[in-house]
Amino acid sequence: MRWRGRRQSSNVEDRRGQSGAPGGFGRSGRPMQIPIGRGVGGGGLSGIVILVVLFFVLRACGIDPLQILEGGSGPANPQITQDEAPGSQPSDAEAQFVSVVLAETEDVWNGIFQAEGQTYTEPRMVLFTDQVRSACGFASAASGPFYCPGDSRVYIDLGFFRELSQRFGASGDFAQAYVIAHEVGHHVQNLIGVLPEFNRQRQTMGQAEANRMSMRVELQADCFAGIWAHFTAQKGLLEDGDIEEAMNAAHQIGDDTLQRRTQGYVVPESFNHGTSEQRATWFANGLRNGRLADCDTFNNPI
Ligand SMILES: [Zn+2]
Repeated sequence: MRWRGRRQSSNVEDRRGQSGAPGGFGRSGRPMQIPIGRGVGGGGLSGIVILVVLFFVLRACGIDPLQILEGGSGPANPQITQDEAPGSQPSDAEAQFVSVVLAETEDVWNGIFQAEGQTYTEPRMVLFTDQVRSACGFASAASGPFYCPGDSRVYIDLGFFRELSQRFGASGDFAQAYVIAHEVGHHVQNLIGVLPEFNRQRQTMGQAEANRMSMRVELQADCFAGIWAHFTAQKGLLEDGDIEEAMNAAHQIGDDTLQRRTQGYVVPESFNHGTSEQRATWFANGLRNGRLADCDTFNNPI
């Protein structure tokens, strides 16, 4: 990806080197994680189906669905705490890269929301080492990158990218960009009401149903990452092989591929992110035309 010299986001909080606290999620809300061999539970179908249908129908009618979903005026996410002021821009290339990717997602999603007459509330990104405190609880680097809806932040230990390359066989800068764009996709889902509904409904579901629902949420985030890649390609920022890097990353962190690698066999009922083929397919669906309407994983076969 041609990223050097491009704008860096002002929404990055560099907490590397700071100590966190004992590991384990669970204070308020659940994090949306990149799967790296441990599962996060699932959610609830019918409500999300209605919600997403409503979203697209209202939008088609020119009504402001985000406004309705957020319950009117006021800050989009009152839970955002301002205890961490934006730090100075990082001096290392790794952090600069993720900062540029985050800025590029801001440009794309600001544009998409604006085109719909909406305002995009930008997420923040926390860089950490070892462990970190979030509104979703404490997390260790071993959890992998995640998005916490409770504080609208993407959390990432940059060491994960080495793991992505070495352990998961997904190398290349655009593989990393895909991971970030996927987490930002969860933020978009938070804004349009998909995540809140998912988290509400998952509490009343059995594990198998929750896993199936989780898959639809995750595949939509993959599709949103594809939308981002579509517009990044239009800007001429992609280099040869970038799309392949992202597609390969989507493939390598598919549930089936992960399970085969970690336990040697596959348990489809436990899938909660989607198979390698599904993840790559939905990324490609978003990539093709860059349209939200192509990312309705709730009303289409996945
Ligand atoms: Zn996810």
